[in-house]
Amino acid sequence: MPNSTEKHAPANFIRHMIDEDVSQNKWGGRFATRFPPEPNGYLHYGHAKSICLNFGLARDYGGQCHMRFDDTNPEKEEQEYVDAILDAVRWLGFDWGEHQFFASDYFDRLYALAEFLIQQGMAYVDSQTAEAMREHRGTHLIPGQNSPFRERSVVDNLDLFRRMKAGEFPDGAHVLRAKIDMASPNFNLRDPVLYRIRHAEHHRTGNLWCIYPLYDYTHCISDALERITHSICTLEFEDHRPLYDWVLDQLAPQLGWHPQQIEFARLNLTYVVLSKRKLIQLVESQAVDSWDDPRLPTLVGARRRGFTAAGFQLFTDRIGVSKADSWIDMSVLEECMREDLNLNAERRIAVLNPIKLIIDNYPENLQEDCFAPNHPLKPELGKRAIPLSKELWIEREDYMETPSKGFFRLYPGNRVRLRYAYVIECTHADYDANGQLLTVHAEYLPDTKSGTPGSDSVKVKGNIHWLPVKSVEACEVRLYDRLFSVPHPGTEQDFMLDINPHSKQIIQAWIEPALTGAQAEERFQFERHGYFVADRVDSHVGKPVFNRTVGLKDTWGKTHA
Ligand code: ATP
Ligand code: MG
Repeated sequence: MPNSTEKHAPANFIRHMIDEDVSQNKWGGRFATRFPPEPNGYLHYGHAKSICLNFGLARDYGGQCHMRFDDTNPEKEEQEYVDAILDAVRWLGFDWGEHQFFASDYFDRLYALAEFLIQQGMAYVDSQTAEAMREHRGTHLIPGQNSPFRERSVVDNLDLFRRMKAGEFPDGAHVLRAKIDMASPNFNLRDPVLYRIRHAEHHRTGNLWCIYPLYDYTHCISDALERITHSICTLEFEDHRPLYDWVLDQLAPQLGWHPQQIEFARLNLTYVVLSKRKLIQLVESQAVDSWDDPRLPTLVGARRRGFTAAGFQLFTDRIGVSKADSWIDMSVLEECMREDLNLNAERRIAVLNPIKLIIDNYPENLQEDCFAPNHPLKPELGKRAIPLSKELWIEREDYMETPSKGFFRLYPGNRVRLRYAYVIECTHADYDANGQLLTVHAEYLPDTKSGTPGSDSVKVKGNIHWLPVKSVEACEVRLYDRLFSVPHPGTEQDFMLDINPHSKQIIQAWIEPALTGAQAEERFQFERHGYFVADRVDSHVGKPVFNRTVGLKDTWGKTHA
């Protein structure tokens, strides 16, 4: 097996543990992790960290990562979520091969193992009401009390458990509990419930079962059955580890495999919420358009937003893995996306907020090709021609009648370069009766065409993009921004009130003809604007719709201070 020094991912405490295990041959050459979502919602950015971590380790240590659905709760789970989860993991670039499992595949075995625990005197059927169970649970200061049913005989327990399975009892009449220690300082060890009665249809097993195993019981056994070596989970399960180990210790003769549970700090990200409950609220209240709304921190949303799998991988590597909870600023994720897109997105030109520029000394019918590189870092991608003519679209923001300090673009008397074309000098502007800007006028300097000898003899500070009025296409562009206006939504008031009212703006823009052929999910840098993706749902070749993924620079602090 390779060791971590040969991997591209940075070292962390989990990799150190694995290296140690490898050097001692603890697992006999086996390496297996798993990603175990509950199919009760869409995956979010936090899950991406867990996916990149688990699948990344499997890749680097020459093992495998199992895709396992933890589907023990019949009421909330659906096939739709299973499909969306598989899609998202694939989209992140990972492949589980034949290692796709469902906890529900193990229902028979889990049941048999529960009977074994009963036979060993390690589990019993409790018939207290839920309320009585709660009362007897104790507190941090007061130990719990034993249930009056705790000393039932093995024969009675088996009989009742079998009748629970046979459907003789209504929901809540009985539960199966582990017999551990009602006085344990760890609540998870105070005779935790292993099985409960639920007369509900399960998305895979239908009505075959009316008792369902609980997470803590199911998870460790599923791990052992799949011969997982490193069972990596988030910190809130640290207190559950003694129970994980207890169950596997009791079942050691049956299972013969005892994975190592390792906890790491979950991802907390500013300007979003990452809890399924809150995400559901955002969708159901229609604060966002759908589960794949590009503003939502779901992975389907991220994909529509134009975020990339490589960007998530970079992000996961960069934020690292630790044992201490912390917050990661959204700008870190955005910067990772920008880095990946900067390398991989071709450049195009779009005018998002147009105003007309007339070059008064440019011949009426002349048209000259100007050549824009498709990627400044990749000359092999070539250039494309954009025809310059007398009337152009430029950005409204590139003109000011009276320039503010530090404004180097168009104002009467100032010179700027039209990208890939000539230096122009602004002469004046026309306004309508209401004082609205109509047209900007300029004259061009014929000897300054980009790429010709001596073209840079005239020095200018501003450099603006443009499109010819005669050959542009109109297109819908959706300008997305952060969904929340504050870093920690919900701390000062209800999180729904922290929604950024400007998180989505739809505009009509002018795009260069080369963009009309964009395929859904094709990504571009619109020069001077940022990164954009052809929407995977609404964009069609010939009639594109673009979503803004992220701006070119982190301007949030400046614009929202
Ligand atoms: P939520 O808290 O949003 O409801 P969950 O933890 O209940 O999510 P699961 O489907 O159980 O969702 O999660 C599958 C895996 O993803 C688990 O191993 C869990 O630890 C991990 N995971 C969930 N949220 C995060 C996060 N914010 N950061 C890292 N890993 C996470
Ligand atoms: Mg969970």
